[in-house]
Amino acid sequence: MLILGIETSCDETAAAIVEDGVKVLSNVVVSQIDIFAEYGGVIPEVAARNHLEVMMPVVNKALSDAKKTWDEIDAIAVTHTPGLLGSLLIGTLTARTLAILHKKPLYAVHHLKSHIYANWLEKEEMPEFPLLSLVVSGGHTQILRMDAHESFEIIGTTRDDAVGECFDKVAKILGLPYPGGPAISKAGKTGDKNRYKLPKPNVEGLDFSFSGLKTAVLRSVQSELGLPISHPSYDLKNHLDSRQIADFSASFEKTAVDYLLEKLEKAYFLYPNTKSFVFAGGVSANELLRLSAKERFKNVFFPEIKYSGDNGAMVAAAAYFEIKNGVEPTNPYKLNIIPRSEIR
Ligand code: AMP
Ligand code: MG
Repeated sequence: MLILGIETSCDETAAAIVEDGVKVLSNVVVSQIDIFAEYGGVIPEVAARNHLEVMMPVVNKALSDAKKTWDEIDAIAVTHTPGLLGSLLIGTLTARTLAILHKKPLYAVHHLKSHIYANWLEKEEMPEFPLLSLVVSGGHTQILRMDAHESFEIIGTTRDDAVGECFDKVAKILGLPYPGGPAISKAGKTGDKNRYKLPKPNVEGLDFSFSGLKTAVLRSVQSELGLPISHPSYDLKNHLDSRQIADFSASFEKTAVDYLLEKLEKAYFLYPNTKSFVFAGGVSANELLRLSAKERFKNVFFPEIKYSGDNGAMVAAAAYFEIKNGVEPTNPYKLNIIPRSEIR
């Protein structure tokens, strides 16, 4: 079964053709990262306009890279939630129109579900159920439990910021570029991870808080520089030297990764019959997280780096398992976008 997956939830315009949910025949991603690096973050209206310009060329390239024609495509899958409203609209309107035009069934897929299903792409071994999934992205930090395909239970979530957002905000304080995650990892490589003691937010159960960790970095930088807590965060970077930036990056990264994995360990304690640990979302590209997770758990799954960020292949994979498990297609005339929602 060949599925065309379309993804435009944030600032990547992406389309891919995937065979039987696991074999990627093409994967085209046009990122707007260079545009937003200049601004230090995504501007929703600009993102939507850029999606519009490249959407159809991206879809056509996905077909031609896979050497497939419309006749050979069995279904179209698209991200319909959560994401930026204008960005989602471009992808969903494109998918709806193509489904009507080419008479293909349409599947509206939840973005976080797609991130989880990136772990089924091009793998020799597949995750086994029951599994625990740590979804770590720019907008989400959640622990989910899956007993089977199509069965999702959110057992932990952030009470405020997402971990990716925290990486981005801490990077801004340290004067590192957007997106902050890779920049912090790079800067922290030569840093001393034990130099600055950052407290882990004390949230009971399996929930997280990341705004507290960001504030802890802010206060620690102000104190290191001998500046008052009223000193504006945007100016701190002008006072930091490269050693301090490296040490703050390493200390923050270690604290954030430890915090995530401690919560996952807590979840494992509550669900000891867990067979696999599945990491998903943009932050799952983090090298320290990958190494530390493999040290702490067995049967750990991470998406290949190229599928850890937003892409169309994971959307097609998620739709394939929906189809296999009896989920009905969506009416292309009626599909709604929902900017924020839980996995159904
Ligand atoms: P997503 O929302 O899934 O598109 O993921 C984007 C988020 O992932 C951003 O907040 C990035 O800073 C973060 N990110 C990307 N690569 C890394 C990395 N290597 N380490 C930590 N965070 C990362
Ligand atoms: Mg994403």
